[in-house]
Amino acid sequence: MSILKKIQTNFGVKKTHTHWPGLIKAYKKWLPVTDKTPIISLQEGATPLIPVNSVSELIGKGVKVYVKYDGLNPTGSFKDRGMTMAISKAKENKCEAVICASTGNTSASAAAYAKRGGMKSFVLIPDGYVAQGKLAQALVYGAEVLAIKGNFDDALKIVQELSNKYPITLVNSVNPYRIQGQKTAAFELIDSLGEAPDWLCIPMGNAGNITAYWLGFKEYFKKGISKKLPRMMGFQASGSAPLVLNKIIKNPETIATAIRIGNPVNKNNAIKVKEESKGKFTSVDDKEIIDAYNLLAREEGIFCEPASAASIAGLLKLKNEIPTNSKIVCVLTGNGLKDPDTAIEKNESCLKSNLEPNINEISKAMGF
Ligand SMILES: *Cc1c(COP(=O)(O)O)cnc(C)c1O
Repeated sequence: MSILKKIQTNFGVKKTHTHWPGLIKAYKKWLPVTDKTPIISLQEGATPLIPVNSVSELIGKGVKVYVKYDGLNPTGSFKDRGMTMAISKAKENKCEAVICASTGNTSASAAAYAKRGGMKSFVLIPDGYVAQGKLAQALVYGAEVLAIKGNFDDALKIVQELSNKYPITLVNSVNPYRIQGQKTAAFELIDSLGEAPDWLCIPMGNAGNITAYWLGFKEYFKKGISKKLPRMMGFQASGSAPLVLNKIIKNPETIATAIRIGNPVNKNNAIKVKEESKGKFTSVDDKEIIDAYNLLAREEGIFCEPASAASIAGLLKLKNEIPTNSKIVCVLTGNGLKDPDTAIEKNESCLKSNLEPNINEISKAMGF
């Protein structure tokens, strides 16, 4: 008998943790994979669902708010959920290289999973508009990083053409396997809560993720695993809100670079999700985003990236419409460490610098 087993037996300790095999293995029967599919995984998924009481208290009315902290995926964003599927299927189809356009997180994820699957990756990014952490990841994982003098929408047009012309697989969210992988986040929510939330609050860029969540909720609902469906509440930055304004935005601008997208590829899907779920699309400005971003960090110890905080900012904006005693999940799509420049720039005033290394001065600075 192993020492651990002995301890467990002697002290009656129950095994509290089982190995998580990654989302494809965990949700295999819900996904378009077979025994022949080579599973390329970094054990993504199983991210925590954390109650955020300070946000619940701001709302009152017995409302309970949780965040789905998908920034804790292997490369720090929910993109890993879709990428494990997209890359596994690309591998199954004997593909040797993948390509994507990206505001940063897709490129980081594609680069990591491509390498894990023994493939080459090309990523097109808008020069100067990708957060430092994301650029660092793509470079370290060994992607061919191609920065263009244009925005995400320009980059997407180019990679779509390139993937038609050359033997490279496109892994943007137009790739249907991405949506399939990402729908597992909705499964995890219902598995944790026991039912779907009343509202799902989510930031929208290309609107692949809102499409994926809705697919997941509907599939569990159809099988009776959840007795209800949530209202899908999508949020965009006010300078980059094509789905709220219902028009293409030529020059989208926002501090939340992950959702700086003017012509979302999943536009029609998003509109359908809104109608089917009786949802709502709303915009929040950069100040509201940064306020929510700092609130999560200061009150809850949760560091997400600016785009993710749009879900909390949006929820607070709709405060008066929230039903009494409802359960709400806000999706935190990416990790705060992705964008250290914004983090520091928006909090520089908190830094006490140039202090002499002596006790008196330091204790004075500490407020003693
Ligand atoms: C990609 C991304 C989004 C937007 O997701 P879509 O599926 O494009 O709507 C939001 N937040 C973060 C951190 C992202 O990386």
